[in-house]
Amino acid sequence: MSKQDISLIFEDSRPGRRALRFQEVDNKWLGEIPAGLRRGHPPELPEVTELEIARHFTRLSQRNFNIDANFYPLGSCTMKYNPKVLERAARKKEFISLHPLTVPSVVQGCLRIYAETEECLKQICGMDAFSLQPAAGAQGELTGVKICRAYFESRGENRKKIIIPDTAHGTNPASAALTGYQVIEAKSDKHGILNPERLKQVMDKDVALIMITNPNTLGLFEEHILEISRIAHEAGALVYMDGANMNALLGIARPGDMGVDMLHLNLHKTFGSPHGSGGPGSGPLGVKNFLKDYLPVPVVTKKGDDYVFDWGLKHSIGRVHSFYGNFLVILRAFVWLKMVGSDGLRQISEAAIVNANYLKAKVRELLEVPYDSQCMHEFVASAVSLKQFGVRTLDIAKRLLDFGIHPPTIYFPLIVHEALMIEPTESESPETLDEFVSCLRQIISEAHNSPEVLTGSPHNMPVGRVDETYAARNPVLRWTSKS
Ligand SMILES: *Cc1c(COP(=O)(O)O)cnc(C)c1O
Repeated sequence: MSKQDISLIFEDSRPGRRALRFQEVDNKWLGEIPAGLRRGHPPELPEVTELEIARHFTRLSQRNFNIDANFYPLGSCTMKYNPKVLERAARKKEFISLHPLTVPSVVQGCLRIYAETEECLKQICGMDAFSLQPAAGAQGELTGVKICRAYFESRGENRKKIIIPDTAHGTNPASAALTGYQVIEAKSDKHGILNPERLKQVMDKDVALIMITNPNTLGLFEEHILEISRIAHEAGALVYMDGANMNALLGIARPGDMGVDMLHLNLHKTFGSPHGSGGPGSGPLGVKNFLKDYLPVPVVTKKGDDYVFDWGLKHSIGRVHSFYGNFLVILRAFVWLKMVGSDGLRQISEAAIVNANYLKAKVRELLEVPYDSQCMHEFVASAVSLKQFGVRTLDIAKRLLDFGIHPPTIYFPLIVHEALMIEPTESESPETLDEFVSCLRQIISEAHNSPEVLTGSPHNMPVGRVDETYAARNPVLRWTSKS
């Protein structure tokens, strides 16, 4: 079989092949293992040489798109390059060999990392307190919505609705619904942002919260945010900001100054942790002072000269994660923040914004950009004009793979038909952006002249078009020699 095909390592197995062979030793001690606990037959492991193992897994790793090898303009996800020094820090044995139940008095350094990371996030966002417990953006949202419920309950109010604009991230309505709230959609205006007049139409005394993604999923800054917060607060509602797009605001604008009462960040997008493959992640939740007592317990505080875990918050919603969040992700964020400093933060967001606007100006010559005002760190194009050739956004996405480019986010946000949501991030060079544009130009000319090239793509990948639901509906989770 050609080694370019991916075989299962079990298929490469030949009886008696070994990776490692140690000298025979006296294994008298085997007799000490009770008979009932010993294997009756050898484990069914693949029998291969060490070189075969190395090649198998190296080849597999090269089948994946990754930021070290490929441009990865996945909108809303901030797939930027993370400096390798952060991995060095996260792999130090002093950190990875720590047991999570170690008493705080002997791991003061780690608690200090928590406390100082929170301090940085508070300053960046203009918030008064953070919990580092939530393990993802969506969990930060859920924590925020639960705090919202606890807050109104403690005031004897029973508000039932949460307003969410149609440009919000999809996890927002999910978090609201999961907590038992009724989701009210607020439509964005023709500029792609939320208009205060529209908000007034849906705002009433039954609204607990407005959840606004800023910049929104069109990559646009919600220009009326101050007015929006004012309207919400006047009706007694709270304002939640989905801050997963904070990569556009670092050092430039603080959500706390926009009237935001709660927000989450994605350390695994904006703050130096790799993002993808399902984690681990970190979605810290920041709140204003009046909501501090509702945060999940424990929180890290200082008692005299010592850092301690405080379990005594009066209205706490309880734990949302074991121990205190994903420590190594928080550690990477801490090192990253110390490295870039406050000037660096601002430069990062400025570069992300310049890159996105540069790319938008070029892409606009090829595809429609329906909401074409100055964007923040990402923008949304539409491939509707190619429908006449029988070509859809999905075909463009698949064809980009042939050029070694990971496709942008597609078919999101829902308000743009045949959407491509493109986020270049600050870490890419102008040459890479130009190369992306020239690939896109070729793809669009193929759409006009030979659409079958697109609809049959990808051509150079290990697999072609896959049935995207089959594996989820019919999972094969266990290999046996019979299968
Ligand atoms: C990624 C993202 C989320 C969800 O974050 P997860 O860590 O994937 O749960 C929420 N909102 C926005 C705007 C995002 O981009």
